[in-house]
Amino acid sequence: MAQINAKFVTSNTDFKNCPPAKFPEFAFIGRSNVGKSSLINSLTFHKGLAKTSQTPGKTQLINHFIIDEKWYLVDLPGYGFAKVSKEKRKEFEKMIFDYLIHRENLTCLFVLVDIRLKPQAVDIEFMSRMVEDEIPFYIVFTKSDKLSQKQVNESVELYKNFLLEMWDELPPLFITSAEKHVGREDILKSIDELIKT
Ligand code: GDP
Repeated sequence: MAQINAKFVTSNTDFKNCPPAKFPEFAFIGRSNVGKSSLINSLTFHKGLAKTSQTPGKTQLINHFIIDEKWYLVDLPGYGFAKVSKEKRKEFEKMIFDYLIHRENLTCLFVLVDIRLKPQAVDIEFMSRMVEDEIPFYIVFTKSDKLSQKQVNESVELYKNFLLEMWDELPPLFITSAEKHVGREDILKSIDELIKT
């Protein structure tokens, strides 16, 4: 398995201060506690790169990492954290959407969802907004090691059917486990292909 060189670049609250857009960029987002930091650490094989935390909603910054001097990996803040005030949430949404809409080198967004949960309103609303704003995204199911293979299949099938009620086409889907490093190669391969095109 190829080793990856990953280096932290910057943390920002404003997309305007993000590093120069000279590399293709791939961002990761999802509800707090979905397993985003764990997945990023699994992808890069760097244990402490993205800070895993038991405190939902802790990362409130746009974190850039440079991978193999070829592409940016961006760790976006977790959304849907109930304990945040309305005002804070608005401010926070603005920060994320400004970034997603205006960041010119953003190639694709990976939206993470917990494979154990039925489609959640907050995730569906977020994805619908991505469709409206024409921001390309992929769906990543996390924590697949917590279910049996049969349950994984059922869960993915249910999700697909739910989305097909709204959309004609599905975005690419990935099934992952950060714990078992499942799906890592598939995600890296898709990034590699997008960089080359
Ligand atoms: P984040 O808030 O989205 O960055 O989530 P974290 O990566 O901090 O993970 C939240 C919790 O889920 C932690 O207790 C992790 O150990 C656990 N977790 C994350 N990914 C996996 C996984 O693939 N399998 C299992 N079993 N637990 C996971």
